[in-house]
Amino acid sequence: EIHNTLIELRGNIRVHCRVRPLLPFDHIQSSLSTNGPSSSEVVVQAVSDYLINRVHGPEDAQDAVFEEVKPLLTSLLDGYNVCIMAYGQTGSGKTYSMIGSQDEDCTHPEQEGIIPKAAKELFKLISGKPAERHTVEVSMVEVYNNELMDLLAKDEDGAAVGVKREVITTSTGISEVPCLTYELVHSSAEVMQLLSAVLRLRAHSPTLVHRDSSRSHLVVTLTVTSRNPNPQALTHRLQSVRQNVQRGSQKQWWSPRCPIAASSRSSSSASSPQSSPCHSPCPPSWQEPLRTKLQLVDLAGSECAGTSGVSGAALWESSCINRSLSALSVLGALAEQRPHVPYRNSKLTHLLQDSIVGDAKLLVMLCVSPTQHFLSETLQSLGFGYRTR
Ligand code: ADP
Ligand code: MG
Repeated sequence: EIHNTLIELRGNIRVHCRVRPLLPFDHIQSSLSTNGPSSSEVVVQAVSDYLINRVHGPEDAQDAVFEEVKPLLTSLLDGYNVCIMAYGQTGSGKTYSMIGSQDEDCTHPEQEGIIPKAAKELFKLISGKPAERHTVEVSMVEVYNNELMDLLAKDEDGAAVGVKREVITTSTGISEVPCLTYELVHSSAEVMQLLSAVLRLRAHSPTLVHRDSSRSHLVVTLTVTSRNPNPQALTHRLQSVRQNVQRGSQKQWWSPRCPIAASSRSSSSASSPQSSPCHSPCPPSWQEPLRTKLQLVDLAGSECAGTSGVSGAALWESSCINRSLSALSVLGALAEQRPHVPYRNSKLTHLLQDSIVGDAKLLVMLCVSPTQHFLSETLQSLGFGYRTR
């Protein structure tokens, strides 16, 4: 039975790989490498040999990539926490995949990445379900040297500043960042306005400047609250809370006021699912707002995971990246086997806890360069994807 659960849960973790097209600067690097000019087909072939769910080749545009991501937005409204993260070396297309092209002054819709497309899709789905009464809040956090920075915080004058925050686990087993700034948003355009401001802040703020954005993780979280969730979402949430309680990672039932949950609380938590009285959703009058999280992550460059040839601050920076990325890679495989998942080992995994453990849905987009020059980096990324599953 445990085996079946694992397989089922692994179904909630998908690993995709995106091979970006050759770009002008690749030719300079290729001509320096002994492999000679590269062909992306070789890399695509190498990638296809790995156990990954989907390979996006250089010809796959943003739209095609997003088609595979889209169903996760439906899952979000059905009560699942969702995390989509881009992993890869600097220059492999993580930011392009998550945000879009940053090269042009005006962003073309066809160049938009997963974050703007996901926000659009989310608001589209929500507008089709007015009875469920959804609200969306956004928060944006940078994780650098194992510290969290609230990128939407403002000082007394209303000027944007990065403010350091901590992440905790609440008594109900949910990860939370006290005092984190949440902005209520009503459209994908509002999400993108906030994101543009954050990218400017990251580049120009005196507290954040002088460091390379490829050395920090960016986490954009859309928290969706439904005041009248659909029955499927309610059933799912009750099941997942029951699983968490049985696993010991959550102490309370989802709704302390729910009479069905209260009656089952008095019985043994180790009782079989069949005998659990909280199998059906609570009566509507006992419903609390249902909250789900979509976490969208542009990870730090994975090449920093090696620490050779660096010292001092750069070594510390690299070792922080190394620690957070390796903490991430084991989570998928260990989530169900271990009663105590080691997500608190790093601020990044602690922050992402709710959307990477249990039955949350995780999509890892491995971004790789098409050149053979970077084949060893590419294989390192594939190894990460393999361990994640
Ligand atoms: P990373 O965030 O991993 O460091 P970027 O997303 O900044 O890498 O990509 C590096 C460069 O390659 C950027 O100029 C970006 O616009 C370009 N690029 C990446 N992926 C693609 C793609 N699929 N199609 C076209 N250009 C891409
Ligand atoms: Mg980047």
